[in-house]
Amino acid sequence: MNTSENQTTIFPKGEKAPAEYFTGNAWIKLLLPNDPILHTQIGNVVFEPGARNNWHTHPGGQILIVTDGVGYYQEKGKSVQIIRKGDVVNIPPNVVHWHGASPDSEMTHIAVNSNTQKGIVVWLQPVTDKEYNS
Ligand code: MN
Repeated sequence: MNTSENQTTIFPKGEKAPAEYFTGNAWIKLLLPNDPILHTQIGNVVFEPGARNNWHTHPGGQILIVTDGVGYYQEKGKSVQIIRKGDVVNIPPNVVHWHGASPDSEMTHIAVNSNTQKGIVVWLQPVTDKEYNS
């Protein structure tokens, strides 16, 4: 789907992500509702520049597939990693982390939430500007 002259996106942008759990503007399109047999849920998330989600964990783990732009991924106690279109991030269960766009670029990823019978997400505190810019 063409959303502008310069950008082609794969999925619709979806709904605005809840401000309670996101800083800045992000958009979520559910691609696969939580499947009771596969125990898997899949969503597409678009982060505008500077946008990120709160610190959080996934009791059943999560895989991110970056499909556009440049973003950040950070696990608690480690330095921020730059993630780019084509990167795949494997997030083990219960690892405290956040993900989002970089300051100057949007970032889009597909989020695969696995083992959802254990829980999908546990939200924690927002990522401060100091943490984001570190
Ligand atoms: Mn996550």
